Amino acid sequence: MQFSDLGLENSLMSTVEHLGFTEPTEIQQKAIPAAMSGHDLIASSKTGSGKTLAFILPAMQRLLKNRALSKKDPRVLILMPTRELAKQVYSQLRMFTSASQFKAVLILGGENFNDQVKTLEKDPHFIVATPGRLADHLSQGHFYLNGLELLILDEADRMLDLGFATQLTQINNAADHRKRQTLMFSATLDHAQVNDFALALLKKPKRIAIGSAYTEHQDITKRFYLSDNLTHKEALLEHFLANETYQQVIIFTATRSDTDRLANILIEKGISASALSGELNQGQRNQIMDSFCKGQNKVLVTTDLASRGLDLLNVSHVINFDMPKHAEEYVHRIGRTGRAGSKGDAISFVGPKDWLSFKNVEGLLQQTTQFDFFNGLKAKFTGLKPKKTKKIKTSSDSKSKNQGKSKSALPVKSNIKTFLLAKEVGDMPVLRKKKALPVDKIESSDLEES
Ligand code: AMP
Repeated sequence: MQFSDLGLENSLMSTVEHLGFTEPTEIQQKAIPAAMSGHDLIASSKTGSGKTLAFILPAMQRLLKNRALSKKDPRVLILMPTRELAKQVYSQLRMFTSASQFKAVLILGGENFNDQVKTLEKDPHFIVATPGRLADHLSQGHFYLNGLELLILDEADRMLDLGFATQLTQINNAADHRKRQTLMFSATLDHAQVNDFALALLKKPKRIAIGSAYTEHQDITKRFYLSDNLTHKEALLEHFLANETYQQVIIFTATRSDTDRLANILIEKGISASALSGELNQGQRNQIMDSFCKGQNKVLVTTDLASRGLDLLNVSHVINFDMPKHAEEYVHRIGRTGRAGSKGDAISFVGPKDWLSFKNVEGLLQQTTQFDFFNGLKAKFTGLKPKKTKKIKTSSDSKSKNQGKSKSALPVKSNIKTFLLAKEVGDMPVLRKKKALPVDKIESSDLEES
């Protein structure tokens, strides 16, 4: 299939040609015709698969072909979980709107509220936003959504995991009329809250699942190195940076304080590195991302703030200095390399503290791992053996001791997977519901702020 087969307006085709794209990607081939025929969509597609154009093109087409329902209200609203992702989508959108009569604006947490009020007063056609700040403006009546024609929720699973259900519901209710079309994208469709939301928000949606969001990315080589402790991880990192060829590297750490610490260590060694974390103000975050995008820094040390969706073509390596708490974040992190057909290398350091997260990643990828090692830096640590599963107390066991408290005891399974989950939440033998991510651990201030 070619883009020219999709029936897009000439002005859109010119921009697509200008971008050098001839064939739509798989998600574009499926999502664009379905969205253009007016269907609601729920779609999953792996990271870097061309999702953004899969919703920008039908959105533009709709505005070019249909009369507006309202002269004042925005016609298309695109919601994203993080400011960085929202900016990236906005810049792709601007490539299309700048050659049209349509106005697009970006409304993000952490930026000047009053400036945004003025921006909203100019009646933009498109709003790209993070949900918290947009919901604030909506509550204060700075704009209305009665005329909204297209609501696009990108990375819906992440928005819900970050606790934006209330804001999304508020936004949905403000635009609740029968002519509204809704496109919902999620890294996975296997997410209870995403499915609940889909039921509530979408009308007879078409379901598009392109492979699994977590299937192997053929262009990314994965390497895992056992490590003994923090000092050993630093030695592995230094060895890699001193001995291997790389263009740009993103290093993921578990905590914000480690981003600064590690970046400083690298700077002392003469490597141009910067740290990106949610503790910085928006101006600083923008500056760090800009200089990394322009190639002024070789290394970006960050938390999961930068794990999703960012499209940085020169990132040859991703290094998991610490394994992510949630296995699916591994897939998002390594997807920052190997973009748009280029090769990438994903390196992970697995120490005793990372072991359970590592096993969860292994389970998600359905693979058994052969560990690599650098000469002279082989770890003594060889992995943790699952302890023999002790008989775990069940609600019925505890009944006699905790008369009247048995309601709080959740059902328990005693297989290893459950055991791993149980370890992760502090050795309590509870079954955590998949959707209930510990938002505090993700450091939600790394993401959107109102
Ligand atoms: P996305 O998943 O939207 O972040 O896109 C990932 C990368 O693929 C971006 O650099 C896009 O510009 C690029 N891209 C999007 N659509 C196509 C296409 N049809 N052909 C080639 N590259 C594309």
